[in-house]
Amino acid sequence: MRMVKSSQLYVRRAAASCSVCGAPAVVRISYARLDLCTLHFREFVERKIARILKKTGLSRARRVIVAVSGGKDSAAMLYALASMLKKDNVELIGVHINLGLGEYSEESMKKAHELCHRVGIPCIIVELEKVLGVTVPELAKRARRPTCSVCGLVKRYILNAVAVEADADYVATGHTADDIIAYTLKEFMFQNMDGVSKLAPSTSTVKGLAVGRVRPLYEVTERESLLYSLINGIPFHHSECPYRPRAPIEQRIKEFVNKLEEEHPGIKITYIRRLERNMGMYHSWGRESSYGRCKHCGLASSGVVCGFCRLTEKVTGKPLGEKVRAWIRGVLASLRAEESLMEVRGS
Ligand code: SF4
Ligand code: ZN
Ligand code: ZN
Repeated sequence: MRMVKSSQLYVRRAAASCSVCGAPAVVRISYARLDLCTLHFREFVERKIARILKKTGLSRARRVIVAVSGGKDSAAMLYALASMLKKDNVELIGVHINLGLGEYSEESMKKAHELCHRVGIPCIIVELEKVLGVTVPELAKRARRPTCSVCGLVKRYILNAVAVEADADYVATGHTADDIIAYTLKEFMFQNMDGVSKLAPSTSTVKGLAVGRVRPLYEVTERESLLYSLINGIPFHHSECPYRPRAPIEQRIKEFVNKLEEEHPGIKITYIRRLERNMGMYHSWGRESSYGRCKHCGLASSGVVCGFCRLTEKVTGKPLGEKVRAWIRGVLASLRAEESLMEVRGS
């Protein structure tokens, strides 16, 4: 049996048959000892997602904000959610943030827009430069902070702001099992149990301040999410962010864990399932996170002023949280107006 290594993905080339139906297999899932055809691989991935939807109650949600970066993982997540939640009448709203990272951001924005259009959900595109008058690299440079730390703060703030304004039940993100393993192992290394407890399949909402996160790809590996996107012909952006640090700790951990998985198939899924089971324990070990309300924008903050308002005030002279919230309210109002117009036309 010859295996072809394509973009870190072992795809079957020769005549293995699907362990379920006997059709030609396209992939070998070593840890499950399964060869699968496209149809049964799709089912295999969606079964893992369905477990998380059931566990987190996502299928009973009214409205969910889906973070769409334009990359393969969030693309796979949105595609799966759009088809799996259709029967449950969950309203999905895609949100893409154009961070102003040059050509990379432009291409990501196009893919995010194309995907939302394809699955038939509205897409809110937040172009930072247009909304704030400043991009992430400029913010980072002027604040003298690492680009990725500013980028993370901006993304978290905007996604939460959209979710609060839209009165959503959840923000869904495309973090895979590999991300969760790398992030939690890093937190364990630094003994930050509060950080571990925030990496559960879902986190809770604090009404009007912070909307809970849900991670539908919690048990799906990066390789599986890549193959899922490819076999479904899902549009996604292939290149890497030019601002990505050369050797972040998380990347090193991922390489190490991939090596372990090759030698001990199943170690990732065992880790992730046990982590899920023990999450309650890390919650009680972690420091109680208590939220206050930012005095400028009114969203969740651990201090008097939230990180986003602090950053924007330092860089531009004004805290810009409220400006972002007002912009989002305007976009949501026009989205609702468009929907009612379509309903009137349709009736
Ligand atoms: Fe943002 Fe850093 Fe990720 Fe680029 S690599 S998108 S700058 S967090
Ligand atoms: Zn099959
Ligand atoms: Zn604020």
